[in-house]
Amino acid sequence: MQDLQMLCDGRWVNAQNGEWLETFNPYTGAAWARVPRAGVEDVDRAVQAARRAYVGPAWRNLTPTARGALLRRLGDLVARDADELAELETRDNGKLISEMRAQMRYMPQWYYYFGGLADKVEGRVIPIDKPDCFNFTWDEPLGVVAAITPWNSPLLLATWKLAPALAAGNTVVWKPSEHSTASALAFGRLFEEAGFPPGVVNIVSGLGSDIGEALVTHPDVAKVAFTGGDQTGQHVYEMAARGIKPVTLELGGKSANIICADADLDNAVKGAVSGIFAATGQTCIAGSRALVHRDIHDSFVDKLVAFARTARMGDPALPETQIGPVTTQAQLKKILDYIDIARAGGARCVLGGTPGSRPECGRGWFVEPTIFCDVRPDMRIAQEEVFGPVLCVIPFDNDDEAVRIANDTRYGLAAGLWTRDMGRALNLSRRLEAGTVWVNTYRATSFLSPFGGYKRSGIGRESGLSAIREYLQEKSVWISTGGDVPNPFVMR
Ligand code: NDP
Repeated sequence: MQDLQMLCDGRWVNAQNGEWLETFNPYTGAAWARVPRAGVEDVDRAVQAARRAYVGPAWRNLTPTARGALLRRLGDLVARDADELAELETRDNGKLISEMRAQMRYMPQWYYYFGGLADKVEGRVIPIDKPDCFNFTWDEPLGVVAAITPWNSPLLLATWKLAPALAAGNTVVWKPSEHSTASALAFGRLFEEAGFPPGVVNIVSGLGSDIGEALVTHPDVAKVAFTGGDQTGQHVYEMAARGIKPVTLELGGKSANIICADADLDNAVKGAVSGIFAATGQTCIAGSRALVHRDIHDSFVDKLVAFARTARMGDPALPETQIGPVTTQAQLKKILDYIDIARAGGARCVLGGTPGSRPECGRGWFVEPTIFCDVRPDMRIAQEEVFGPVLCVIPFDNDDEAVRIANDTRYGLAAGLWTRDMGRALNLSRRLEAGTVWVNTYRATSFLSPFGGYKRSGIGRESGLSAIREYLQEKSVWISTGGDVPNPFVMR
Protein backbone atom coordinates (compact mmCIF):
# COMPACT_ATOMS: atom_id res chain seq x y z
CA MET A 1 0.00 0.00 0.00
CA GLN A 2 1.47 3.32 -1.06
CA ASP A 3 0.58 6.78 0.22
CA LEU A 4 0.48 9.43 -2.52
CA GLN A 5 0.46 13.20 -2.07
CA MET A 6 -1.19 16.11 -3.86
CA LEU A 7 0.55 18.96 -5.65
CA CYS A 8 0.06 22.47 -4.30
CA ASP A 9 2.24 25.47 -5.08
CA GLY A 10 5.09 23.23 -6.21
CA ARG A 11 5.04 21.18 -3.01
CA TRP A 12 3.76 17.65 -2.37
CA VAL A 13 1.29 17.77 0.50
CA ASN A 14 -1.24 15.74 2.47
CA ALA A 15 -4.78 16.88 3.14
CA GLN A 16 -4.77 19.38 5.99
CA ASN A 17 -7.41 17.30 7.79
CA GLY A 18 -5.08 14.27 7.63
CA GLU A 19 -7.73 12.16 5.85
CA TRP A 20 -7.11 9.58 3.12
CA LEU A 21 -9.04 7.69 0.45
CA GLU A 22 -8.19 4.19 -0.71
CA THR A 23 -7.83 3.58 -4.40
CA PHE A 24 -8.72 0.15 -5.80
CA ASN A 25 -7.47 -2.12 -8.56
CA PRO A 26 -10.67 -3.12 -10.42
CA TYR A 27 -9.17 -6.44 -11.53
CA THR A 28 -8.30 -7.66 -8.04
CA GLY A 29 -10.90 -5.61 -6.18
CA ALA A 30 -8.13 -4.77 -3.68
CA ALA A 31 -7.00 -1.35 -2.46
CA TRP A 32 -3.42 -0.66 -3.56
CA ALA A 33 -2.76 2.98 -2.63
CA ARG A 34 -4.06 5.85 -0.53
CA VAL A 35 -4.55 9.38 -1.77
CA PRO A 36 -5.25 12.48 0.34
CA ARG A 37 -8.93 13.22 0.84
CA ALA A 38 -8.81 16.97 0.42
CA GLY A 39 -11.14 19.31 2.26
CA VAL A 40 -12.34 22.78 1.33
CA GLU A 41 -9.29 24.29 3.05
CA ASP A 42 -7.07 22.37 0.63
CA VAL A 43 -9.08 23.71 -2.30
CA ASP A 44 -8.62 27.22 -1.01
CA ARG A 45 -4.88 26.66 -0.58
CA ALA A 46 -4.57 25.33 -4.14
CA VAL A 47 -6.68 28.08 -5.72
CA GLN A 48 -4.72 30.75 -3.88
CA ALA A 49 -1.48 29.17 -5.12
CA ALA A 50 -2.83 29.15 -8.67
CA ARG A 51 -3.93 32.77 -8.38
CA ARG A 52 -0.53 33.83 -7.02
CA ALA A 53 1.14 32.00 -9.90
CA TYR A 54 -1.24 33.65 -12.37
CA VAL A 55 -0.37 37.17 -11.30
CA GLY A 56 3.23 36.42 -10.38
CA PRO A 57 6.16 37.26 -12.62
CA ALA A 58 7.49 33.73 -13.16
CA TRP A 59 4.47 32.78 -15.29
CA ARG A 60 3.12 36.14 -16.38
CA ASN A 61 6.46 37.35 -17.75
CA LEU A 62 7.06 34.22 -19.77
CA THR A 63 6.57 35.00 -23.42
CA PRO A 64 3.99 32.87 -25.22
CA THR A 65 6.90 31.30 -27.09
CA ALA A 66 8.53 30.28 -23.82
CA ARG A 67 5.20 28.91 -22.54
CA GLY A 68 4.94 26.88 -25.72
CA ALA A 69 8.44 25.50 -25.17
CA LEU A 70 7.44 24.35 -21.66
CA LEU A 71 4.44 22.55 -23.08
CA ARG A 72 6.54 20.85 -25.73
CA ARG A 73 9.05 19.77 -23.08
CA LEU A 74 6.15 18.33 -21.11
CA GLY A 75 5.09 16.44 -24.24
CA ASP A 76 8.58 14.93 -24.45
CA LEU A 77 8.40 13.81 -20.82
CA VAL A 78 5.01 12.21 -21.38
CA ALA A 79 6.46 10.37 -24.38
CA ARG A 80 9.36 9.17 -22.22
CA ASP A 81 7.08 7.93 -19.41
CA ALA A 82 4.11 6.83 -21.52
CA ASP A 83 4.28 3.14 -20.66
CA GLU A 84 4.73 3.80 -16.95
CA LEU A 85 1.75 6.16 -16.89
CA ALA A 86 -0.31 3.62 -18.84
CA GLU A 87 0.45 0.89 -16.30
CA LEU A 88 -0.65 3.17 -13.48
CA GLU A 89 -3.90 3.98 -15.25
CA THR A 90 -4.63 0.30 -15.85
CA ARG A 91 -3.97 -0.57 -12.23
CA ASP A 92 -6.19 2.28 -11.07
CA ASN A 93 -9.14 2.19 -13.49
CA GLY A 94 -8.95 -1.31 -14.97
CA LYS A 95 -8.83 -0.19 -18.58
CA LEU A 96 -6.84 -2.24 -21.05
CA ILE A 97 -3.11 -1.75 -21.06
CA SER A 98 -3.20 -1.87 -24.86
CA GLU A 99 -5.64 1.07 -24.92
CA MET A 100 -3.93 3.09 -22.20
CA ARG A 101 -0.51 2.63 -23.83
CA ALA A 102 -1.89 3.84 -27.14
CA GLN A 103 -3.48 6.85 -25.39
CA MET A 104 -0.34 7.76 -23.49
CA ARG A 105 1.87 7.44 -26.56
CA TYR A 106 -0.48 9.71 -28.50
CA MET A 107 -1.04 12.21 -25.70
CA PRO A 108 2.18 14.22 -26.25
CA GLN A 109 0.66 15.45 -29.49
CA TRP A 110 -1.74 17.71 -27.54
CA TYR A 111 1.20 19.35 -25.76
CA TYR A 112 3.11 19.77 -29.01
CA TYR A 113 0.07 21.18 -30.81
CA PHE A 114 -1.03 23.61 -28.12
CA GLY A 115 2.61 24.44 -27.35
CA GLY A 116 2.89 25.44 -30.99
CA LEU A 117 -0.33 27.43 -30.78
CA ALA A 118 0.72 29.41 -27.68
CA ASP A 119 2.45 32.13 -29.69
CA LYS A 120 -0.04 32.17 -32.54
CA VAL A 121 -2.87 33.78 -30.64
CA GLU A 122 -3.05 37.09 -32.42
CA GLY A 123 -5.29 40.05 -31.74
CA ARG A 124 -6.90 42.15 -34.44
CA VAL A 125 -6.71 45.74 -35.54
CA ILE A 126 -10.28 46.90 -36.05
CA PRO A 127 -10.91 49.32 -38.93
CA ILE A 128 -12.78 51.53 -36.51
CA ASP A 129 -15.38 54.01 -37.72
CA LYS A 130 -14.04 56.93 -35.63
CA PRO A 131 -11.28 58.79 -37.45
CA ASP A 132 -9.50 59.95 -34.29
CA CYS A 133 -9.29 56.52 -32.64
CA PHE A 134 -7.14 53.46 -32.99
CA ASN A 135 -8.77 50.21 -31.82
CA PHE A 136 -7.26 46.78 -31.43
CA THR A 137 -7.90 43.57 -29.49
CA TRP A 138 -5.86 41.42 -27.18
CA ASP A 139 -6.78 37.81 -26.41
CA GLU A 140 -6.00 37.28 -22.77
CA PRO A 141 -6.14 34.33 -20.39
CA LEU A 142 -9.02 34.08 -17.93
CA GLY A 143 -7.11 33.37 -14.73
CA VAL A 144 -7.40 30.25 -12.60
CA VAL A 145 -9.09 27.35 -14.40
CA ALA A 146 -10.70 24.56 -12.38
CA ALA A 147 -10.38 21.30 -14.31
CA ILE A 148 -12.57 18.41 -13.13
CA THR A 149 -12.12 15.05 -14.83
CA PRO A 150 -13.65 11.54 -14.78
CA TRP A 151 -12.04 8.14 -14.36
CA ASN A 152 -12.37 6.59 -17.77
CA SER A 153 -9.47 8.22 -19.65
CA PRO A 154 -8.03 10.21 -16.78
CA LEU A 155 -4.88 11.77 -18.21
CA LEU A 156 -6.06 12.20 -21.77
CA LEU A 157 -9.24 14.02 -20.76
CA ALA A 158 -7.25 16.20 -18.37
CA THR A 159 -4.80 16.93 -21.17
CA TRP A 160 -7.65 18.15 -23.38
CA LYS A 161 -8.13 20.89 -20.77
CA LEU A 162 -4.63 21.51 -19.44
CA ALA A 163 -2.86 21.87 -22.78
CA PRO A 164 -5.05 24.68 -24.18
CA ALA A 165 -5.56 26.31 -20.77
CA LEU A 166 -1.82 26.59 -20.16
CA ALA A 167 -1.04 27.54 -23.75
CA ALA A 168 -3.43 30.46 -23.30
CA GLY A 169 -1.58 31.55 -20.14
CA ASN A 170 -3.99 30.43 -17.43
CA THR A 171 -3.08 28.52 -14.28
CA VAL A 172 -4.91 25.40 -13.17
CA VAL A 173 -6.33 23.58 -10.19
CA TRP A 174 -7.14 20.05 -11.30
CA LYS A 175 -9.42 17.66 -9.44
CA PRO A 176 -9.15 14.18 -10.91
CA SER A 177 -11.74 11.50 -10.24
CA GLU A 178 -11.49 9.80 -6.88
CA HIS A 179 -11.22 6.52 -8.84
CA SER A 180 -8.22 7.48 -10.93
CA THR A 181 -6.07 9.81 -8.90
CA ALA A 182 -2.79 7.90 -8.91
CA SER A 183 -1.89 8.58 -12.54
CA ALA A 184 -2.81 12.25 -12.11
CA LEU A 185 -0.40 12.59 -9.21
CA ALA A 186 2.38 10.82 -11.12
CA PHE A 187 1.71 13.10 -14.06
CA GLY A 188 1.99 16.13 -11.75
CA ARG A 189 5.69 15.35 -11.28
CA LEU A 190 6.26 15.89 -14.99
CA PHE A 191 5.04 19.50 -14.80
CA GLU A 192 7.72 20.12 -12.19
CA GLU A 193 10.36 18.38 -14.26
CA ALA A 194 9.39 20.32 -17.39
CA GLY A 195 10.03 23.53 -15.49
CA PHE A 196 6.56 25.01 -14.97
CA PRO A 197 6.73 27.59 -12.16
CA PRO A 198 5.27 26.46 -8.82
CA GLY A 199 1.52 26.95 -8.56
CA VAL A 200 0.84 26.95 -12.30
CA VAL A 201 -0.59 23.44 -12.03
CA ASN A 202 -2.03 22.23 -8.72
CA ILE A 203 -3.78 18.93 -8.08
CA VAL A 204 -6.34 18.34 -5.34
CA SER A 205 -7.41 14.76 -4.79
CA GLY A 206 -10.61 13.78 -3.06
CA LEU A 207 -14.33 13.47 -3.47
CA GLY A 208 -16.39 15.65 -5.74
CA SER A 209 -19.06 15.68 -3.07
CA ASP A 210 -16.59 17.08 -0.51
CA ILE A 211 -14.75 19.67 -2.55
CA GLY A 212 -16.50 20.13 -5.91
CA GLU A 213 -18.65 23.03 -4.79
CA ALA A 214 -15.78 24.79 -3.01
CA LEU A 215 -13.70 24.56 -6.15
CA VAL A 216 -16.32 25.62 -8.67
CA THR A 217 -17.62 28.51 -6.59
CA HIS A 218 -14.26 29.74 -5.30
CA PRO A 219 -14.14 33.49 -6.06
CA ASP A 220 -10.64 33.18 -7.53
CA VAL A 221 -11.65 30.48 -10.02
CA ALA A 222 -12.36 32.20 -13.31
CA LYS A 223 -13.43 29.26 -15.47
CA VAL A 224 -14.57 25.67 -15.04
CA ALA A 225 -13.71 22.89 -17.46
CA PHE A 226 -15.56 19.69 -16.62
CA THR A 227 -15.84 16.21 -18.07
CA GLY A 228 -18.23 13.76 -16.47
CA GLY A 229 -21.84 12.67 -16.32
CA ASP A 230 -24.60 15.04 -17.40
CA GLN A 231 -26.23 15.18 -13.96
CA THR A 232 -22.98 16.25 -12.32
CA GLY A 233 -22.31 18.54 -15.28
CA GLN A 234 -25.66 20.26 -14.79
CA HIS A 235 -24.89 20.75 -11.12
CA VAL A 236 -21.45 22.18 -11.94
CA TYR A 237 -23.05 24.49 -14.52
CA GLU A 238 -25.57 25.75 -11.96
CA MET A 239 -22.84 26.36 -9.38
CA ALA A 240 -20.66 28.17 -11.94
CA ALA A 241 -23.62 30.33 -12.92
CA ARG A 242 -23.68 31.79 -9.40
CA GLY A 243 -20.32 33.37 -10.13
CA ILE A 244 -21.13 34.09 -13.85
CA LYS A 245 -18.21 31.85 -14.80
CA PRO A 246 -17.70 30.43 -18.24
CA VAL A 247 -17.77 26.65 -18.46
CA THR A 248 -16.73 23.93 -20.83
CA LEU A 249 -18.77 20.79 -20.27
CA GLU A 250 -18.01 17.44 -21.87
CA LEU A 251 -20.82 15.17 -20.77
CA GLY A 252 -22.31 11.81 -21.57
CA GLY A 253 -23.88 10.30 -24.65
CA LYS A 254 -26.21 7.70 -26.10
CA SER A 255 -24.66 7.64 -29.51
CA ALA A 256 -26.26 5.93 -32.49
CA ASN A 257 -24.22 3.75 -34.80
CA ILE A 258 -26.34 3.61 -37.97
CA ILE A 259 -25.85 0.61 -40.23
CA CYS A 260 -27.44 1.19 -43.63
CA ALA A 261 -28.50 -1.63 -45.92
CA ASP A 262 -25.62 -0.85 -48.32
CA ALA A 263 -22.93 -0.99 -45.61
CA ASP A 264 -19.94 -3.30 -45.72
CA LEU A 265 -21.29 -5.58 -43.02
CA ASP A 266 -17.99 -6.98 -41.83
CA ASN A 267 -16.63 -3.49 -41.27
CA ALA A 268 -19.87 -2.36 -39.69
CA VAL A 269 -19.70 -5.26 -37.24
CA LYS A 270 -16.20 -4.21 -36.23
CA GLY A 271 -17.42 -0.62 -35.90
CA ALA A 272 -20.32 -1.67 -33.69
CA VAL A 273 -18.00 -3.76 -31.51
CA SER A 274 -15.47 -0.96 -31.24
CA GLY A 275 -18.32 1.43 -30.41
CA ILE A 276 -19.64 -0.52 -27.46
CA PHE A 277 -17.21 -3.14 -26.23
CA ALA A 278 -13.93 -1.23 -26.51
CA ALA A 279 -13.08 0.29 -23.15
CA THR A 280 -15.77 -2.04 -21.74
CA GLY A 281 -18.32 0.49 -22.92
CA GLN A 282 -17.01 3.01 -20.39
CA THR A 283 -16.60 5.81 -22.81
CA CYS A 284 -18.65 8.89 -23.41
CA ILE A 285 -18.66 8.17 -27.15
CA ALA A 286 -19.92 4.60 -26.75
CA GLY A 287 -22.07 3.68 -29.75
CA SER A 288 -24.60 2.17 -27.40
CA ARG A 289 -27.46 2.14 -29.91
CA ALA A 290 -26.96 0.18 -33.14
CA LEU A 291 -29.62 1.32 -35.59
CA VAL A 292 -29.78 -1.40 -38.23
CA HIS A 293 -31.70 -1.35 -41.52
CA ARG A 294 -34.41 -4.00 -41.36
CA ASP A 295 -33.24 -5.68 -44.61
CA ILE A 296 -29.92 -6.65 -43.06
CA HIS A 297 -30.96 -6.74 -39.41
CA ASP A 298 -30.86 -10.48 -38.84
CA SER A 299 -27.67 -11.18 -40.77
CA PHE A 300 -25.97 -8.23 -39.07
CA VAL A 301 -27.00 -9.38 -35.60
CA ASP A 302 -25.79 -12.94 -36.33
CA LYS A 303 -22.39 -11.66 -37.42
CA LEU A 304 -22.20 -9.22 -34.52
CA VAL A 305 -22.99 -11.83 -31.90
CA ALA A 306 -20.51 -14.28 -33.43
CA PHE A 307 -17.76 -11.65 -33.45
CA ALA A 308 -18.50 -10.33 -29.95
CA ARG A 309 -18.41 -13.90 -28.57
CA THR A 310 -14.75 -14.13 -29.56
CA ALA A 311 -13.73 -11.14 -27.40
CA ARG A 312 -11.11 -12.11 -24.83
CA MET A 313 -12.06 -10.97 -21.31
CA GLY A 314 -9.61 -10.92 -18.47
CA ASP A 315 -6.71 -9.16 -16.85
CA PRO A 316 -6.49 -5.65 -18.34
CA ALA A 317 -2.73 -5.65 -17.73
CA LEU A 318 -2.27 -8.39 -20.38
CA PRO A 319 -1.81 -6.99 -23.88
CA GLU A 320 -4.02 -9.68 -25.47
CA THR A 321 -7.07 -8.84 -23.31
CA GLN A 322 -9.88 -7.14 -25.22
CA ILE A 323 -12.50 -6.58 -22.52
CA GLY A 324 -11.46 -5.69 -18.99
CA PRO A 325 -13.39 -5.07 -15.79
CA VAL A 326 -15.54 -2.04 -15.12
CA THR A 327 -13.91 0.56 -12.94
CA THR A 328 -15.96 0.47 -9.76
CA GLN A 329 -18.25 -1.85 -7.90
CA ALA A 330 -20.96 0.81 -8.04
CA GLN A 331 -20.60 0.90 -11.82
CA LEU A 332 -20.93 -2.90 -11.96
CA LYS A 333 -24.19 -2.70 -10.05
CA LYS A 334 -25.47 0.12 -12.23
CA ILE A 335 -24.81 -1.85 -15.42
CA LEU A 336 -26.45 -5.01 -14.06
CA ASP A 337 -29.46 -2.93 -12.97
CA TYR A 338 -29.78 -1.59 -16.52
CA ILE A 339 -29.67 -5.14 -17.88
CA ASP A 340 -32.62 -5.96 -15.60
CA ILE A 341 -34.41 -2.81 -16.74
CA ALA A 342 -33.92 -3.80 -20.40
CA ARG A 343 -35.30 -7.30 -19.80
CA ALA A 344 -38.23 -5.95 -17.80
CA GLY A 345 -39.00 -3.55 -20.64
CA GLY A 346 -39.29 -6.43 -23.11
CA ALA A 347 -35.88 -6.29 -24.82
CA ARG A 348 -34.49 -9.67 -25.91
CA CYS A 349 -30.98 -10.50 -24.72
CA VAL A 350 -29.06 -12.27 -27.49
CA LEU A 351 -25.64 -12.18 -25.85
CA GLY A 352 -24.33 -11.92 -22.28
CA GLY A 353 -26.59 -10.22 -19.79
CA THR A 354 -24.71 -11.52 -16.72
CA PRO A 355 -21.69 -10.60 -14.59
CA GLY A 356 -18.47 -12.02 -16.02
CA SER A 357 -17.84 -15.39 -14.40
CA ARG A 358 -15.14 -16.85 -16.68
CA PRO A 359 -12.06 -18.03 -14.77
CA GLU A 360 -9.98 -15.29 -16.40
CA CYS A 361 -12.24 -12.67 -14.80
CA GLY A 362 -10.70 -13.55 -11.43
CA ARG A 363 -12.23 -11.51 -8.62
CA GLY A 364 -12.66 -8.49 -10.87
CA TRP A 365 -15.77 -6.43 -11.57
CA PHE A 366 -16.79 -7.83 -14.97
CA VAL A 367 -19.92 -7.75 -17.12
CA GLU A 368 -20.26 -10.10 -20.11
CA PRO A 369 -20.54 -8.24 -23.42
CA THR A 370 -24.28 -7.83 -23.75
CA ILE A 371 -26.53 -7.29 -26.76
CA PHE A 372 -30.25 -6.61 -26.66
CA CYS A 373 -32.54 -6.87 -29.71
CA ASP A 374 -36.20 -5.88 -30.04
CA VAL A 375 -35.36 -2.59 -28.38
CA ARG A 376 -37.85 0.25 -28.88
CA PRO A 377 -36.36 3.75 -29.11
CA ASP A 378 -38.37 4.95 -26.13
CA MET A 379 -37.19 2.25 -23.72
CA ARG A 380 -35.00 3.40 -20.84
CA ILE A 381 -32.18 1.18 -22.09
CA ALA A 382 -32.27 3.12 -25.38
CA GLN A 383 -32.44 6.54 -23.75
CA GLU A 384 -30.15 6.47 -20.70
CA GLU A 385 -26.38 6.23 -20.58
CA VAL A 386 -25.33 2.86 -19.16
CA PHE A 387 -21.56 3.38 -19.40
CA GLY A 388 -20.91 -0.33 -19.79
CA PRO A 389 -20.72 -3.08 -22.44
CA VAL A 390 -24.44 -3.12 -23.23
CA LEU A 391 -25.66 -2.58 -26.79
CA CYS A 392 -29.24 -1.98 -27.93
CA VAL A 393 -30.11 -2.98 -31.48
CA ILE A 394 -32.98 -1.01 -33.01
CA PRO A 395 -34.27 -1.70 -36.55
CA PHE A 396 -35.23 1.05 -39.02
CA ASP A 397 -36.83 1.08 -42.48
CA ASN A 398 -35.47 4.21 -44.18
CA ASP A 399 -33.02 7.09 -43.74
CA ASP A 400 -35.61 9.47 -42.33
CA GLU A 401 -36.54 7.01 -39.64
CA ALA A 402 -32.86 6.38 -38.83
CA VAL A 403 -32.25 10.11 -38.36
CA ARG A 404 -35.40 10.48 -36.27
CA ILE A 405 -34.41 7.65 -33.92
CA ALA A 406 -30.77 8.76 -33.77
CA ASN A 407 -31.78 12.29 -32.79
CA ASP A 408 -34.48 11.19 -30.37
CA THR A 409 -32.37 11.39 -27.21
CA ARG A 410 -31.41 14.23 -24.93
CA TYR A 411 -27.76 13.62 -25.81
CA GLY A 412 -25.79 14.59 -28.91
CA LEU A 413 -22.17 13.61 -28.48
CA ALA A 414 -21.41 11.39 -31.47
CA ALA A 415 -22.86 9.17 -34.17
CA GLY A 416 -21.54 6.51 -36.53
CA LEU A 417 -22.73 5.86 -40.05
CA TRP A 418 -21.98 2.79 -42.15
CA THR A 419 -22.77 3.11 -45.85
CA ARG A 420 -21.01 2.82 -49.20
CA ASP A 421 -22.99 5.79 -50.59
CA MET A 422 -21.07 9.04 -49.90
CA GLY A 423 -24.05 11.18 -50.91
CA ARG A 424 -26.10 9.49 -48.22
CA ALA A 425 -23.18 9.84 -45.80
CA LEU A 426 -22.99 13.61 -46.30
CA ASN A 427 -26.72 14.08 -46.20
CA LEU A 428 -27.17 12.08 -43.01
CA SER A 429 -24.08 13.58 -41.35
CA ARG A 430 -25.66 16.99 -41.74
CA ARG A 431 -28.96 15.87 -40.25
CA LEU A 432 -27.53 14.10 -37.20
CA GLU A 433 -27.61 16.15 -33.99
CA ALA A 434 -24.15 15.20 -32.76
CA GLY A 435 -20.86 16.98 -32.21
CA THR A 436 -18.93 14.24 -34.03
CA VAL A 437 -20.06 12.01 -36.90
CA TRP A 438 -17.91 9.10 -38.04
CA VAL A 439 -18.54 7.55 -41.44
CA ASN A 440 -17.29 3.97 -41.89
CA THR A 441 -15.13 4.33 -38.79
CA TYR A 442 -15.71 4.86 -35.07
CA ARG A 443 -13.87 6.24 -32.03
CA ALA A 444 -11.35 8.35 -33.93
CA THR A 445 -10.20 11.49 -32.12
CA SER A 446 -7.28 13.81 -32.73
CA PHE A 447 -5.62 16.86 -31.21
CA LEU A 448 -6.45 18.58 -34.53
CA SER A 449 -10.21 18.11 -34.61
CA PRO A 450 -12.79 19.75 -32.34
CA PHE A 451 -14.61 17.45 -29.94
CA GLY A 452 -17.73 18.22 -27.95
CA GLY A 453 -21.41 17.68 -27.61
CA TYR A 454 -24.73 18.94 -28.87
CA LYS A 455 -27.72 19.13 -26.52
CA ARG A 456 -27.11 17.59 -23.06
CA SER A 457 -23.76 16.22 -24.15
CA GLY A 458 -22.05 19.47 -23.42
CA ILE A 459 -20.97 23.01 -24.09
CA GLY A 460 -17.79 24.10 -25.83
CA ARG A 461 -15.14 22.23 -27.76
CA GLU A 462 -11.90 20.51 -26.84
CA SER A 463 -8.96 19.86 -29.21
CA GLY A 464 -8.32 21.68 -32.44
CA LEU A 465 -8.00 25.40 -33.04
CA SER A 466 -11.28 26.30 -31.36
CA ALA A 467 -10.23 24.77 -28.03
CA ILE A 468 -7.80 27.52 -27.09
CA ARG A 469 -10.58 30.10 -27.44
CA GLU A 470 -12.38 28.40 -24.54
CA TYR A 471 -9.54 29.65 -22.32
CA LEU A 472 -9.23 33.21 -23.63
CA GLN A 473 -11.18 36.42 -23.32
CA GLU A 474 -11.04 39.27 -25.78
CA LYS A 475 -10.15 42.78 -24.73
CA SER A 476 -10.82 45.79 -26.92
CA VAL A 477 -8.31 48.65 -26.52
CA TRP A 478 -9.14 52.18 -27.69
CA ILE A 479 -6.45 54.81 -28.20
CA SER A 480 -7.32 58.36 -29.08
CA THR A 481 -5.20 59.71 -31.91
CA GLY A 482 -6.93 63.09 -31.83
CA GLY A 483 -6.15 66.11 -29.71
CA ASP A 484 -8.90 67.45 -27.47
CA VAL A 485 -11.53 65.24 -25.85
CA PRO A 486 -14.86 66.22 -27.44
CA ASN A 487 -18.09 66.89 -25.49
CA PRO A 488 -17.69 64.64 -22.39
CA PHE A 489 -21.50 64.46 -21.86
CA VAL A 490 -22.12 62.62 -25.13
CA MET A 491 -21.18 59.00 -25.76
CA ARG A 492 -18.69 58.77 -28.59
P1 NDP B 1 -19.04 12.02 -12.67
O1 NDP B 1 -19.91 13.05 -13.26
O2 NDP B 1 -19.54 11.21 -11.54
O3 NDP B 1 -17.67 12.67 -12.14
C1 NDP B 1 -16.87 13.47 -12.93
C2 NDP B 1 -15.99 14.32 -12.04
O4 NDP B 1 -16.83 15.22 -11.33
C3 NDP B 1 -15.22 13.53 -11.00
O5 NDP B 1 -13.96 14.10 -10.77
C4 NDP B 1 -16.10 13.69 -9.78
O6 NDP B 1 -15.44 13.50 -8.56
C5 NDP B 1 -16.53 15.13 -9.95
N1 NDP B 1 -17.69 15.51 -9.15
C6 NDP B 1 -18.61 14.72 -8.56
N2 NDP B 1 -19.50 15.46 -7.88
C7 NDP B 1 -19.13 16.74 -8.03
C8 NDP B 1 -19.64 17.99 -7.57
N3 NDP B 1 -20.73 18.06 -6.78
N4 NDP B 1 -19.01 19.11 -7.94
C9 NDP B 1 -17.93 19.08 -8.74
N5 NDP B 1 -17.39 17.92 -9.19
C10 NDP B 1 -17.98 16.78 -8.85
O7 NDP B 1 -18.54 11.12 -13.87
P2 NDP B 1 -17.70 9.80 -13.81
O8 NDP B 1 -16.38 10.03 -13.16
O9 NDP B 1 -18.59 8.74 -13.27
O10 NDP B 1 -17.42 9.58 -15.37
C11 NDP B 1 -18.35 9.03 -16.19
C12 NDP B 1 -19.15 10.07 -16.93
O11 NDP B 1 -18.29 10.95 -17.64
C13 NDP B 1 -20.03 9.47 -17.98
O12 NDP B 1 -21.33 10.00 -17.92
C14 NDP B 1 -19.40 9.84 -19.29
O13 NDP B 1 -20.25 9.90 -20.37
C15 NDP B 1 -18.76 11.13 -18.98
N6 NDP B 1 -17.65 11.37 -19.87
C16 NDP B 1 -17.77 12.32 -20.84
C17 NDP B 1 -16.76 12.53 -21.75
C18 NDP B 1 -16.85 13.60 -22.79
O14 NDP B 1 -15.82 14.04 -23.26
N7 NDP B 1 -18.02 14.03 -23.19
C19 NDP B 1 -15.54 11.75 -21.71
C20 NDP B 1 -15.52 10.77 -20.65
C21 NDP B 1 -16.54 10.62 -19.77
P3 NDP B 1 -15.56 12.08 -7.81
O15 NDP B 1 -14.88 11.11 -8.71
O16 NDP B 1 -14.86 12.29 -6.54
O17 NDP B 1 -17.02 11.81 -7.63
